[in-house]
Amino acid sequence: MTSESGPKHVIVVGAGIAGMTAAFRLEQAGHTVTVLEQEDRVGGRMTTVERDGYRVDLGALWLSYNYTAMVRLLTDAGLAAEIQPSTNVWGVLRAGKIHRLDFSRPSGLVRTRLFSWKSKLKAINLLRDLRRATPLLQWGDMSGAAEIDVENADDWAVRRLNEELLDYLIEPLCSGYFLAEPRDVSAVGALIPLWATLKAPAFNFDAGVGTLTQLLAERLRVEYAASATRVSEDASGVHVLWQRGGREHSTRADACVVAVPGPNVPRIVPQLSERQREYLSALRYIPDIRVTFGLRRPPTEPALGFLVPCRESRDLLGVTFNHNLSQGRAPAGKGLVAAHFRGSWTGKHFASDDDVVIADALHALRETFPDLAEHIDAHQEMCVVHRWEQALLARPAHGYRSLSQFTRSINPDSRIQFAGDFLSYSATNAALASGELAAEHLQAAALKYN
Ligand SMILES: Cc1cc2nc3c(=O)[nH]c(=O)nc-3n(C[C@H](O)[C@H](O)[C@H](O)COP(=O)(O)OP(=O)(O)OC[C@H]3O[C@@H](n4cnc5c(N)ncnc54)[C@H](O)[C@@H]3O)c2cc1C
Repeated sequence: MTSESGPKHVIVVGAGIAGMTAAFRLEQAGHTVTVLEQEDRVGGRMTTVERDGYRVDLGALWLSYNYTAMVRLLTDAGLAAEIQPSTNVWGVLRAGKIHRLDFSRPSGLVRTRLFSWKSKLKAINLLRDLRRATPLLQWGDMSGAAEIDVENADDWAVRRLNEELLDYLIEPLCSGYFLAEPRDVSAVGALIPLWATLKAPAFNFDAGVGTLTQLLAERLRVEYAASATRVSEDASGVHVLWQRGGREHSTRADACVVAVPGPNVPRIVPQLSERQREYLSALRYIPDIRVTFGLRRPPTEPALGFLVPCRESRDLLGVTFNHNLSQGRAPAGKGLVAAHFRGSWTGKHFASDDDVVIADALHALRETFPDLAEHIDAHQEMCVVHRWEQALLARPAHGYRSLSQFTRSINPDSRIQFAGDFLSYSATNAALASGELAAEHLQAAALKYN
């Protein structure tokens, strides 16, 4: 990407991975970019914080070599040396037993005793549907999935698979990736995590997933604690109002990328049509609470985490052994374990004090993984409770059709473009790729001719 008509000034609202990627690609093309971020740190849902020597990922924690746009960005930014291999082995709990599966090698799924032979034969339908969906899936813009978005994941699993695959594969996938039950998720949405997860090894960064946004921030101009309140455009440019510490600022620029979660967009972009406004406001982001324990000794477990199907626990969604993500997550010889919960548990606990959340989290762990809970009780020296009001986007059946109508309604020549996981699905690489697309759209039109 090179600028054909000289450098322009672009404002990016939001320093999550979507905004930071758009900013990096625009700078790389020769433009001057200012990023406005309402928090005092970059990263959004791709953030790692340090606590007592532990690196705690607050949101995203798992990255894959299937994330080709991310790997390319790391290379282009001279950050490829940050990439560390990571494990892609997950355990699934069934009747008190953990079945370990290496998602990098799907052939292992044929041998696993997690599923009966009958289910393995039925899974051929899943592979067929996945193959049909694959050409329609595009990381930065999932509107192509509209073509096959005809039913919810529960109806699809009953029709095409069987109860065992619904309970021990589709339900944990929907809960894990969307924090929602299969009936509340589009069937094509349930296929997307498989498309994104299977067949590739995982990678990570020693100091946590937030490394990427943090290192990009070192190359960009970021205004912290800067909350955008209004972004509008006219024939000669964009006008951005933003606030810091109660003071209002007004900046004119040539273009703007708005990279905040979808439902927040209508609050700051008044020039949306009524339909666009309705669509964005109705997007359903599910809240999340993560409880992460720092441990004087790591539990002995090679997997990255255990998934807990709803049949095995109504509260606990899973645990991750974050010290297995990379060496740098925990101080030498120590362990870092996170507990993840279903939406109903999160709803009940969202407003509770941290002490109550931690006690109830340990209670849920004790019921499902008594040995692990005992280990945490014996070795805990640190705990972080993090709440996300808007964690993961759950798109219902037909949600990709609505997405397609929305993306078609965006004027490609507009000086305001959008980026974020709401244009795709909730994954770092999807948000990143949407940031690249926003930068490309601005390059192709608004920044080229004015
Ligand atoms: C609990 C959890 C677990 C996840 N696990 C994974 C995982 O393992 N792997 C994976 O790939 N993905 C995972 N994801 C999904 C992934 O983190 C997100 O899809 C992705 O990071 C979204 O990036 P984004 O830039 O679109 O949005 P965000 O990260 O939300 O960034 C938006 C930014 O905009 C800022 N902002 C908002 N309003 C304003 C304003 N008015 N003015 C200025 N700034 C503003 C926000 O503060 C934020 O920094 C997870 C997410 C969560 C929450």
